Amino acid sequence: MAADFEILAVDSGSMARAGVLRVAHGEIRTPAFVPLATKGSVRGLTPAEVRDLGFDMVLGNTFHLHLNPGDERIAGQGGLHSFMRWDGPIITDSGGFQVFSMGHGTVADEIKGRAPNGPGRSGSVRAIEEEGVRYRAYTDGSERFMAPETSMEIQANLGSDIALVFDECTPFHVSRDYTARSTERTHRWLDRCLDWHAEHGPAGQLVYGIVQGGVHEDLRVESAQAVAARACDGIAIGGSLGAEKEQMYEVVRWATAVLPPERPRHLLGIGEIDDLVAGVARGIDTFDCVMPTRLGRHGVALVPEPGRRWRIDLTAASLKDSDEPLMEGCPCPACAIGYSRSYLRYMAKARELTAMRLITVHNLAFVQRTVARLREAILAGTFEQVSAEILGGAAP
Ligand SMILES: [Zn+2]
Repeated sequence: MAADFEILAVDSGSMARAGVLRVAHGEIRTPAFVPLATKGSVRGLTPAEVRDLGFDMVLGNTFHLHLNPGDERIAGQGGLHSFMRWDGPIITDSGGFQVFSMGHGTVADEIKGRAPNGPGRSGSVRAIEEEGVRYRAYTDGSERFMAPETSMEIQANLGSDIALVFDECTPFHVSRDYTARSTERTHRWLDRCLDWHAEHGPAGQLVYGIVQGGVHEDLRVESAQAVAARACDGIAIGGSLGAEKEQMYEVVRWATAVLPPERPRHLLGIGEIDDLVAGVARGIDTFDCVMPTRLGRHGVALVPEPGRRWRIDLTAASLKDSDEPLMEGCPCPACAIGYSRSYLRYMAKARELTAMRLITVHNLAFVQRTVARLREAILAGTFEQVSAEILGGAAP
């Protein structure tokens, strides 16, 4: 089955495209950013607030929801949409990323290509076998097993609109030979996921295959071609994308250059402001990233300042007496209250829930306006100009 994906405009100077992806619970206007509802909520926000910020879809985490509260319990409550009271589209990851990142340092280390040094986490993966992965659950220490079929069954219980296939998120610090063998196994797991879904998957649930291949051009191209040759509704790009941004953009382009244009493409775990611009230019339709929500909880706000990586640490001592607003002219509901940086700093330092919530709202609104602006620009034929403005520090 092919996804109902309508491409409305393609930029003449890049691979950027704007479209509408129609899934069981509604439409996603692309390019789109997908906020994380890892454990069944976008942390600190109600579903109505997420919707009002302009988001069409959220991402639920297969691994965490399986361990707690359990996908069968969620199925008993009518599925994840009903359980979390979000009636729009939901994409669920496969759990592979979490299972593997437990064994290879932190998630961020893997994506950014840093050396694995996660404290006390290695060893949680007991064994990676052809059949699946044996791991130790962080909830109760019990030994569990996740196979491609298990992941698809969990996602069927969750009832997401888009399920991602189970893959091995190949670490950065492994040999080319390991990456090649791992990528081939991911393709065999892809077939098993599609077979299971064809027989047992919920009607209307789309399945995205995942391109792996590390930072090796031939492996990435082969993987993209292998995934495209299967009957996946859409295609995600995952795994290690390199240590530097330029390398990441290259890796993405290797894949998108050979992917069939008519199928939607998702870039897993990437969502910094410059990465959104670069990803859209390379033909990515949807993104998910923990950045805006995690930063918000740590008192870091997004601002249109590329020289500071678009962020300001509101806990900084230099803001103690600042009467400046969080961001001049920001139309978001948090900034509309009119708090000064001094007040937000004081609240963030005190770990006040209100501060974390408001900064999260502001960050999500900032990211949403960025992708919405890129989308409008593609439709208007001004993508190159608008991209340059955003990268130059224009407020979205
Ligand atoms: Zn704001």
